[in-house]
Amino acid sequence: MTSRSKRRNPFLAVLTTPSGMVASMLLGLVLLTAVIAPMAFTDLANERNVSSILQGPSAEHWAGTDALGRDILLRVAAATGFSVGLALLATLIVVVGGVILGTLPLLVNRRVGRMVTSLINMAVAFPGLLLALFFAVIFGVGTHGAVLAIGIAGIPAFARLTQNLSASIAGRDFVSAARLAGVGRIRLIVRHVLPNIGEPLMVNTAIGAGSSLLAFSGLSFLGIGVQQPDYDWGRLLNEGLEGIYVNPMSAIVPGIAIVIAGLAFNLFGEAAARALGVTVPSRWHGKTVRASEAEDESEANESALLSVRELRVIFPAEKEPVEAVRGVSFDIKHGEAVGIVGESGAGKSLTALAIAQLVERPGVVSAARLQFEGKPLRSRKDARWRRWLGTQLAVIFQDPMASFTPTMRIGRQLAEIGEEHLGLRRRAALKRAVDRLRDVRLRDPERSAHQFPHELSGGMRQRAMIGMGLMGSPSLIVADEPTTALDATVQKQVLELLASIREADGVAMLLISHDITVIRNVCDRVLVMYGGVIVEDLPASELLTSARHPYTRALVEVVPDMETDRERPLPVIDGQAASASEVGVGCVFAARCPLADDHCRQSAPPLLDDQQGRRVACWKVDTPVTTAGAAP
Ligand code: SF4
Repeated sequence: MTSRSKRRNPFLAVLTTPSGMVASMLLGLVLLTAVIAPMAFTDLANERNVSSILQGPSAEHWAGTDALGRDILLRVAAATGFSVGLALLATLIVVVGGVILGTLPLLVNRRVGRMVTSLINMAVAFPGLLLALFFAVIFGVGTHGAVLAIGIAGIPAFARLTQNLSASIAGRDFVSAARLAGVGRIRLIVRHVLPNIGEPLMVNTAIGAGSSLLAFSGLSFLGIGVQQPDYDWGRLLNEGLEGIYVNPMSAIVPGIAIVIAGLAFNLFGEAAARALGVTVPSRWHGKTVRASEAEDESEANESALLSVRELRVIFPAEKEPVEAVRGVSFDIKHGEAVGIVGESGAGKSLTALAIAQLVERPGVVSAARLQFEGKPLRSRKDARWRRWLGTQLAVIFQDPMASFTPTMRIGRQLAEIGEEHLGLRRRAALKRAVDRLRDVRLRDPERSAHQFPHELSGGMRQRAMIGMGLMGSPSLIVADEPTTALDATVQKQVLELLASIREADGVAMLLISHDITVIRNVCDRVLVMYGGVIVEDLPASELLTSARHPYTRALVEVVPDMETDRERPLPVIDGQAASASEVGVGCVFAARCPLADDHCRQSAPPLLDDQQGRRVACWKVDTPVTTAGAAP
């Protein structure tokens, strides 16, 4: 199926709503006045007339005059540029400072990141105006001091917003793909994270500009902002208040100007938020988890391409940490295709993510051994190591749309890997990207390279994703449900493509799927996972005929074949799949197993190796299942 959804233009999206149109017109009027009025009215506004001091409204002076006979309305109009300009300058400081501070935790190590986050949270706890007053005293009375004070006081809130939005993006597939590809942290933030949080940041910038304008007027009104002979609306409000009993308009007019301009920015921000569907994610709260990350080299399997021992993935929770992957061990040989099957929540994808070093905080990964090409995966994190891993290990995610940065052209995203890993120049990297798109049989690779992800169909995107993995020279491809989102025909083509790549280049593969047929057709060996553990490990060719674990046998039984009665509903496995938080002390499958007894419920069976290439975890291996494990 072809996806042709068009990217919306954010400005058009705002303008097409009634409130957005009104807010845009109001803001446009304010900004236009800010540009034109100072040029048109400044000289007239500064003209003194001793014969008309402190006059009320008249045909000549609509809002009256001040203590030096100057026209109040002209002065308010002329002050628009200064008032709005200073507010925008302070907002610029807020945005630049907030973005830098908010993305800092992604750049530094975990401990420093936590310190930065704590500092931001502490600063946010202080009311903004109090902070502005505090900094105004430090930087001194005057325009410069006020700009700095308001700008710096606004940084913590904007930093927290940036941090929350960045965190929500940092776990997305396309960021993971870029990270795995070895894209440097700064580049990752600039190219992949910030463009995708741009809309909410812009919305909040507009709202922030309104707040800065109000804050600036407040400081000037208090006499610690703009100083004479300069004047902004706050200053005019201050002066107008002195003559309010003689001419109330001297205070009302600058007050109205402040309200209108503040409203214009805020209304525009609110309308944009509604039109763009912008929401701010809430911050995660929970207990931290610590786990051993020790590497055990004692059992190293030198011949294995990938060697995994006692792999665990743990997530913090309100009560107890949840162990989603619970001590998984397996090897993958050079050129071997290993599949992992199991229902949702079995821990398949997390196992793959942990191997690819892509489990996001607050998840914690530990392993007695996690070794790839003879090198421990978890002991190094420097740029050289990332570059090496990015060329040797390719990851293909389930949703190719989520795996590409939506704001970058396909070719550029592939080329970026060539530049990062292979040191290619821009043009050479793009040529390699086009070659790779051709290798994965995209019909018009040159054209596809210039298209955005949303302009490709699902199948083409998945091919491009595979092409992205081939930009290096991977010895292992980790494919997490690579065909789930595709229709049957495209699914077959993508699987054939993966098989041909494997055959041509001798690449090993770890294929994750809930589809037992896919695994059986593509893989040499199958790992069956349930409740975060491997319950059976057997050759793919024996899956249908010689599975020994009751869960594997039940999985096989529910797969329809040519003899399946189409008139009857497809069979399903009795009961609900175990969630990681519910797994008890006994066998993980005990709650659904027709053979379960007290021994099964009280004691977990070990994964025993029969020394003939098969492992199984069950106390009653090969016992015939008398009660149907599969129910119609
Ligand atoms: S150990 Fe017991 S409960 Fe677990 S799969 Fe075997 S028979 Fe079933």
